[in-house]
Amino acid sequence: MSYLPIFLKLSDQPCLVVGGGEIAARKIRQLLKAGGKVTVVAPELGDAVKALLPDQKFRHIASIFRSEYLDGMVLVIAATDDEDINRQVSELAQSRNIPVNVVDNPKLCSFIMPSVVDRSPVQIAISTGGASPVLARLLRARLETMIPASFGRLAELMGKSRALVRKRFPDMNERRRFWEHILQGPVAEMLFAGQDKAALKTLEQQLQDESHAISKSGEVYLVGGGPGDPDLLTFRALRLMQQADVVLYDRLVAPAIVELVRKDAERIYVGKERNQHALPQENINRMLVRLAIEGKRVLRLKGGDPFIFGRGGEEIETLSSEGIPFQVVPGITAAGGCASYAGIPLTHRDYAQSCIFVTGHLKDGTMNLNWDALIQPKQTIAVYMGTHGLELLCSELIKRGLPENIPAAIVQQGTTQQQRVYIGTLKSLPEIPKQHEIKPPSMIIIGEVVKLHEKLAWFEPEAKQD
Ligand code: SAH
Repeated sequence: MSYLPIFLKLSDQPCLVVGGGEIAARKIRQLLKAGGKVTVVAPELGDAVKALLPDQKFRHIASIFRSEYLDGMVLVIAATDDEDINRQVSELAQSRNIPVNVVDNPKLCSFIMPSVVDRSPVQIAISTGGASPVLARLLRARLETMIPASFGRLAELMGKSRALVRKRFPDMNERRRFWEHILQGPVAEMLFAGQDKAALKTLEQQLQDESHAISKSGEVYLVGGGPGDPDLLTFRALRLMQQADVVLYDRLVAPAIVELVRKDAERIYVGKERNQHALPQENINRMLVRLAIEGKRVLRLKGGDPFIFGRGGEEIETLSSEGIPFQVVPGITAAGGCASYAGIPLTHRDYAQSCIFVTGHLKDGTMNLNWDALIQPKQTIAVYMGTHGLELLCSELIKRGLPENIPAAIVQQGTTQQQRVYIGTLKSLPEIPKQHEIKPPSMIIIGEVVKLHEKLAWFEPEAKQD
């Protein structure tokens, strides 16, 4: 180990930054954040440093560097673009045993600055010993995606409850088990999901539990898996997928996404084929409750967004009335995913000022839609579950006044490698499935914006376009 990682207490300590450019600005900001009393030495300040001035307090000495500016400093950073000055700062500081960092020049440094994942009070510092700051930054980006933004709040809550927990669990092993349970269970998840009050209440309840046993309450995560491309998952979705003990997923969730759940999690297929529900909705609702009561962390994984034609509302209504902790994680809905990947903006200043999402699901051979709302000018219509009723949908829209030559598209398996985009008009659209085998799921987009596909299509899936 060539460097000793330490965290330095800097509050109200005098520190010196030599240089007034962009890099200096970054360092000044870091030092101020840690509470340092910052002096900046530079003949002139660049815009980035000046921009800090209105709400940040630091002293500026408008001069070139001189050795007396080191007097009383506990830390020095040289960030000029003049190597001679940087070297001079480094030598003088080291001769006085003042820790010094020279930006981008490890040889002149007596300390180096890590890349930091800041979840204050939790901080993760990454260093490659000066070998590759880019690598450190990449590592940092990975960690940023894995650690919830509100991790710091969790640490604060733990800090506040430490004394109480110590009193309640004098035995160190018991205490450790308790904390592990808190950090991996509903309390942590509630905090991450912004339910701070519920988290505190649950923590207090667990502390007051007379049985001295750590209650094993389960929870449910209702998660949107997006339209198919696994890269479109949210950080939170991925984290919960890797944490859940059991996963209930349906047909719409792409196999590549199901692959990302924890390897040893139990997977239950509750798929919904059209007209053939593998499990009636009622059973799914009850199963979620039962698994959570058994103490499991249950992931209900849905295609797209759970609250858009996803029955997510019904599922959590049951959870809510049973008092089971749950959270909902939004996903990219099919209309959004298909539109982006097909190069069809759903709104556009010239062609569409609004966009309406409807279901084209046929019930008893009819489509019960608010047709008047659909035939508005300058509006894009995104139709979910519309392929089977396509003929009826198009003829009704034409009958009610939408021009028959308005452009329209069918996007098959949008965002996946099997994506195909078929373009026609409102009139010709029903012919497309007669000429091509359209595989589910597919999305219908109607409106002038469809014209833009020709110009804006950018995604090149493996499946060849016809
Ligand atoms: N909750 C989902 C929608 C469920 S309804 C969401 O927010 O996306 C199911 C319908 O969504 C399908 O019939 C189809 O119209 C559409 N759909 C879902 N994924 C799709 C995809 N990858 N490509 C095209 N359409 C899709």
